[in-house]
Amino acid sequence: MNFSFYMPTKVLVGSLTEFSDLIKGFGVKPCVVCGKSSAKLCGALADIKEIFGDIAVFNKIEPNPTITSVKDGAEFAKENNADFIIGVGGGSPLDAAKMIAVLAEEDISFDDLSNAKRLPLLLIPTTIGTGSEVTKYSILTDEKSHSKINIASDLLFPDIAVLDAKYCRGLPVSVARNTALDALSHVIEGMLSKKASPISDMFAAEAIRIISSKFSSLIEGKITDTDYENLLFASNLSGFVIAQTGTCAVHACGYALTSEKNIDHGRANALLLCDVIRRFPHENTDKIFKIMHLSYIEFSLIVNTIIGEKEQITKEEIENFTKKSMLAKNISNGIWAPTEDEVREIYANSLEVVS
Ligand code: NAP
Ligand code: FE
Repeated sequence: MNFSFYMPTKVLVGSLTEFSDLIKGFGVKPCVVCGKSSAKLCGALADIKEIFGDIAVFNKIEPNPTITSVKDGAEFAKENNADFIIGVGGGSPLDAAKMIAVLAEEDISFDDLSNAKRLPLLLIPTTIGTGSEVTKYSILTDEKSHSKINIASDLLFPDIAVLDAKYCRGLPVSVARNTALDALSHVIEGMLSKKASPISDMFAAEAIRIISSKFSSLIEGKITDTDYENLLFASNLSGFVIAQTGTCAVHACGYALTSEKNIDHGRANALLLCDVIRRFPHENTDKIFKIMHLSYIEFSLIVNTIIGEKEQITKEEIENFTKKSMLAKNISNGIWAPTEDEVREIYANSLEVVS
């Protein structure tokens, strides 16, 4: 055996307010980084206010956050003399909070964080998909190149992640479905990664078991409080996995669907998942289907039912997205990697091709 495992984030599972003694020592004045409305609506902002009293709130993080929003957030944190950052929301505010914690300390180039410092960082996920609260990645949109950049550094592992599933209860069904399938993509890609290890496989297998046991709730759109608790935990496990293994061809091809066609991150991966995994060696994918107690065909039917009607794609878009995907670092991170022609086929098979 030959592998490493590093996960320095303290994970607290339960009610945020019950952990107040543990997190109060973090600092005096937090800058809360969140999206437009969900952090307030789900009750997290009120709970944070109850714990810390004086808080500054930067609620301008959009889905697929831009570098500009992150720079604005860092300025806001500095102007408000924040001594730590709390990110609340889906992967977008959490990823933004990570780089805001760095830039509020020092205006440094994104390319090299090896000598950088950051403010203390606490993340609270409110979607059930990215696992960003325990990963070393911050995925931002570069407005200039119209593409996503993935900043990866051990510095970006948060200090604390709090999983309080009550904040997820108001998720629109579409966001719950998309994000659950994002988590499923993470753990399937993690098991099919060149960097998979016995530890990452253990977490991945448990997350696959949990998410597949909730397929009927996701199809029906009736997600109970217990489902949310379990799916939030599975999403967290998916973060443990990709922090070690990275993602593979599904995510590599998914980025263009998000940055060019505005398809939600989780949905983009879900659209591509079935056609990508059938191309991997069957001895590897068979293990995954065995955990789910499903055949490939049964699995595809379920994923396609959850996805519903697929988006259209033109031949010109396929050409453009294929070129972009072939440049993504993670395209070759799997134990199998697609050729350029195979990426064309994946897009054509996964969406509805129109001329
Ligand atoms: P998101 O972009 O963070 O949020 C999508 C939508 O869901 C927003 O409109 C948001 O509203 C809403 N929302 C969030 N929580 C809610 C709640 N509890 N109730 C009601 N609405 C809620 O979605 P995401 O799929 O979680 O994150 C996607 C991003 O994560 C992408 O940029 C992707 O690249 C990144 N990602 C990062 C990692 C990593 O390891 N760092 C891994 C995978 C994906 P508000 O705007 O009002 O909050
Ligand atoms: Fe993802």
